[in-house]
Amino acid sequence: MKTNILSLSFRKVDCPKSPSYLVGELRIDGQTLGDRYVLDVRSLAQALQREGEHFIFTCGCGVPGCIGIVDGVQSRISDGQVTLAGSLPKGGAFSFVLSVAQARKAVADALLAEKDFLDEACRWEEGEFPVFGFTTYSYRGYISEARAK
Ligand SMILES: [Zn+2]
Repeated sequence: MKTNILSLSFRKVDCPKSPSYLVGELRIDGQTLGDRYVLDVRSLAQALQREGEHFIFTCGCGVPGCIGIVDGVQSRISDGQVTLAGSLPKGGAFSFVLSVAQARKAVADALLAEKDFLDEACRWEEGEFPVFGFTTYSYRGYISEARAK
């Protein structure tokens, strides 16, 4: 079965009164997905390793319901492939089949590409989020785990 290709890049958001942070931009086969919402990168990472409902897209405040997202993205995993299916109030329904290995590597590589910023961010107080969805320290575990597979 032909699989779709996930890619992830980051855009830096500078805030006048709080630390800068990175917002993920998700693309499937080169097309942006959910670009009217904020990407919860940690939920995306979790959807690639655990079946079930994941709120990959959310509001800038972190509460998906705040912008009308009631149902999360459904993740189903089998034979090294993950199917992500969902529907967005702005953007409509989607369903993609990804290679788990390709998708996880894409997420890990995108985080690694921002390593300097993330290492700097790790000196902040715990609880700040250098990448939307992650807390200060949780991304490190994700990178090492993704690399191990
Ligand atoms: Zn909100």
